[in-house]
Amino acid sequence: MNYLVEVKNLKKNYSSKEAVKDVSFNIKENEILGLLGPNGSGKTTTIGMLLGLLKPSGGEIKIDNMIFEKDRIEILNKINFISPYIELPKKLTVKQNLTVYGKLYDIKNLKERIDYLTEKLRLKELLNRITGELSSGQKNRASLAKALINNPKVLFLDEPTASLDPEIGDFVRSFLENYKKENKISILLASHNMSEVNRLCKSVLMMKNGAIIDKGSPQFLIEKHGRKNLEEVFLKLSRSENEFN
Ligand code: ADP
Ligand code: MG
Repeated sequence: MNYLVEVKNLKKNYSSKEAVKDVSFNIKENEILGLLGPNGSGKTTTIGMLLGLLKPSGGEIKIDNMIFEKDRIEILNKINFISPYIELPKKLTVKQNLTVYGKLYDIKNLKERIDYLTEKLRLKELLNRITGELSSGQKNRASLAKALINNPKVLFLDEPTASLDPEIGDFVRSFLENYKKENKISILLASHNMSEVNRLCKSVLMMKNGAIIDKGSPQFLIEKHGRKNLEEVFLKLSRSENEFN
């Protein structure tokens, strides 16, 4: 099996707080893996480590068989993200932002890449607008264009549709579905939107208090926990005192 992302016994402590405790999982080629869990369960911290923004307190991360300590630049060229840690510079236009990021990644045929992404993401009319003045739905699509500018093999999405109205959320989900079909990209998707996870993810990790407490396909989890849908599984998880049982 070819795994693009391999995470083993990953840990992160913030002084005395164990934000991520001994987390292990893999992401296959062309897989969208869902990451579910209540606020504070460690999703963003996990993704921060996968992006090389946070230094793990323990464990190992491999991306495309490489490790950050040795192959940081090569890894960063193969991945991209939407993360609450980093917003697009507000004062630049959308076009300037995409151009700057494209140049940072040294993208060949940058004009064609920007044309392609802005067409698919309905950003053509917004290219000359100041990024900070866009609506949240428009900003989100601009962030997605930035996240795909380097044709990443692995995409890390930390609640990408959290602030979107249903119509734009649906547009983004359809976009991701189609983009993945055409580009065979692997995605880790942290989300609170259960229908989104149900629709996009064949497998899901359930996280709570820094640990993965269950995993499987949405259907497997629904049946295992005797619930009607993923939302109810999530509520059971959130409300239970400690671990699932
Ligand atoms: P999630 O994304 O699942 O909501 P986070 O990864 O943001 O969870 O947070 C996990 C835990 O780590 C929470 O208890 C949070 O308060 C704590 N935490 C996150 N960032 C920091 C930080 N920079 N310093 C101290 N504690 C943090
Ligand atoms: Mg988070």
